[in-house]
Amino acid sequence: MTEIFQTDFTRADVVIVGGGLAGLFCALKLAPRPVTVISAAPLGEGASSAWAQGGIAAAVAEGDSAEAHAADTIAVGGGIVDEEVALGLAREAGARIHDLLEYGVPFDRDLEGRLAVSREAAHSARRIVHVQGDMAGKAIIAALIEAVRKTPSIKVIEDYVAEALLTDGDTVTGLQLRKAGDATAKPLMLASRAIVLATGGIGHLYAVTTNPVEASGLGLAIAARAGAIIADPEFVQFHPTALNVGRDPAPLATEALRGEGATLINAKGGRFMLALNPLAELAPRDIVARGVFDEIAAGRGAFLDATSLGAHLAEKFPGFHAKCLSAGFDPATQPIPIAPAAHYHMGGIAVDRHGRTSLKGLWAGGEVSSTGAHGANRLASNSLLEAVVYAARIADDINGNVFAAHALRLTETTPRNCAMPPLTEANLRAMMASHVGVVRNGDQLAEAVQAFAAIERDTGNIALRNMATTALIVAASAWSRRESRGAHFCSDYPAEDPAQRKRTMTTLAEARRIAASMAGDEPVAKLASGA
Ligand SMILES: Cc1cc2nc3c(=O)[nH]c(=O)nc-3n(C[C@H](O)[C@H](O)[C@H](O)COP(=O)(O)OP(=O)(O)OC[C@H]3O[C@@H](n4cnc5c(N)ncnc54)[C@H](O)[C@@H]3O)c2cc1C
Repeated sequence: MTEIFQTDFTRADVVIVGGGLAGLFCALKLAPRPVTVISAAPLGEGASSAWAQGGIAAAVAEGDSAEAHAADTIAVGGGIVDEEVALGLAREAGARIHDLLEYGVPFDRDLEGRLAVSREAAHSARRIVHVQGDMAGKAIIAALIEAVRKTPSIKVIEDYVAEALLTDGDTVTGLQLRKAGDATAKPLMLASRAIVLATGGIGHLYAVTTNPVEASGLGLAIAARAGAIIADPEFVQFHPTALNVGRDPAPLATEALRGEGATLINAKGGRFMLALNPLAELAPRDIVARGVFDEIAAGRGAFLDATSLGAHLAEKFPGFHAKCLSAGFDPATQPIPIAPAAHYHMGGIAVDRHGRTSLKGLWAGGEVSSTGAHGANRLASNSLLEAVVYAARIADDINGNVFAAHALRLTETTPRNCAMPPLTEANLRAMMASHVGVVRNGDQLAEAVQAFAAIERDTGNIALRNMATTALIVAASAWSRRESRGAHFCSDYPAEDPAQRKRTMTTLAEARRIAASMAGDEPVAKLASGA
C-alpha cells in the first residue's frame, strides 16, 4: 500500500523541488511563510549552482547600464530573445546582488570596497560579480545553505526525488516522491497548494556533460507529463572545452585559459580553429564547440594546449591544474584531450514573468524554466542571475496569491517501479550526444525521436521514463526546427531561416505525435507544416 505523509495543509503549504540557487533563494524569499524544500541530493551537492565558476552578470559598475546588459543578452540569443524579459532581468540584477550580500555571500571587492567586476565573452563591459576568483557557485550556495538552516520556516527533505506531479484537471495538487537511488522504495505522496520546480538542467541526458548526475531533466519531464507547455527545448548550449579524461561529469577547462593564450590543436598539432573563424580559439562558444566536434568526428582528435602558460598554470588556474594532474595529465608540459560537453539548457518549462507555468499551482524557476531571456544561446553568467530574479518573483507571486479553500486531494498514480536498466540509460545518453548533440541532422534526429519514444512508452523504470520524456521533447523539437540558429546547428539546414525566427512552444503530446508520424501512423508533411 502506498505510504502517505502529509505536512499541515494550510494556505502556507508551499513545496519547492530543488536545492540549488533557484530553490534556496525562493525559500528564503518566502520566509517566514512555511515551505518544504525537496532535494534529490544533500544540500550543497548535486546542483550545478555550486559548480559555477565565473559568477553572476550584473550591471553594477560605473558606466555600465541595464540597457547595455540587455543589448548584449539579445545580441547573442540568435534573434529570439524576449527583449522585455532580458531588460527586466538586467534591471533587477542590482537588487538581487544586494539580497545575496544580505544572505552573507562574500562577493569580491576592489580596493575602494566596491563590488569587483570581471569581463566575460560577449559582454560589452566588466559586469561579472564573483567570489575568490572562480569560486562563485560554491560560496553562494554555502552562504544560502547557512541562511536556510537558520530559517525555522524552511523544512528541508534531502535525498528524495520528485518523480511525478499529481493533478486535478489543469491544477497541480501534489508530488510523488521516492527515496533517491532506491527504485524499490515505496513512493510518497505529498499534497501541496503551490509547487515550485527548481530542478536545474538536462546536461546528464548527454554522455559528455559538465552537469551533475541530478541534472537529468526530471523536472521538465514531470511538468511535461502533467501537460505543461515546454519552450525552446531544442536549444542546448555545449561547452567547447570539457576535459575528455574519462570522468563523468567531465571537468570544465575555463574559457579564460584560451583568453590567456592556450590554443586548440588536433593530434597532429594543427590549430584547426584558425581556418574556421577570424577569432580562432576566441570565437563564440557554439562555433568553437562545432570546431572541436568536427575535429573529433573526423578522427583527428582535439586537445587544449596550455603549455605556453607553463609554470604559471598552477598559480593562475589552480582548479584546472589540479583536475588535469588528478587525471594523469600535466597541462604545463602536454596538451589535454577535450570534447564539447552539454552545459546549459536554454529551453525548459515555459513561464511568464511571474514564473507561472501553464498549469495552475505550478511555478518554475532557474534552469528548468524557459523565460525567453536566453533565446537560442545564453550569454555567460546570465543563468545564475535568472535563477535569483525569477526565484524572487515567484516568491512574490505566491505570497500575493490567495489559495482556494478547497480540500487538498491526493490522486494515486502508478507507484510500481522496476530497477533502472543501466545499459538503456547509457544508450540514451550516448544517443543524445551522437544524434541530438553539437551538430544534428534530420535522419539522426528522427532515429533518436523514435528510440526515445519507445523507451518512454515501454520502460518500467520511472526515472528512465522521465529521462526519455525530456530526451524525446528535445529531439522532436530539434527535428522540427529546420534551420540553424544559435546553439541548434543542423547540417541539413546550415543557415538561419527568417521565417523560423520565433520561440518554440510545445508539449509532450506534440512530441509523441511527431514520433507517431515517423512510425507511419500520421503523415509527416502535415506535422512539418504545423497543420
Ligand atoms: C560547471 C558549471 C559552471 C557554470 N558556471 C556558471 C557561471 O559562472 N555563471 C552562471 O550564471 N551560470 C553558470 N553555470 C550554469 C548555472 O550554474 C546553472 O544554470 C544554475 O546554477 C542552475 O541553478 P538551478 O537552481 O536552476 O539548478 P541547480 O543548481 O542544478 O539545482 C537543481 C536542484 O534540484 C535538485 N533536483 C533535480 N531533480 C530533482 C528531482 N526530480 N527531485 C528533487 N530534487 C531534484 C538537484 O539535486 C539540485 O538540488 C555553470 C554550470 C556548470 C555545470
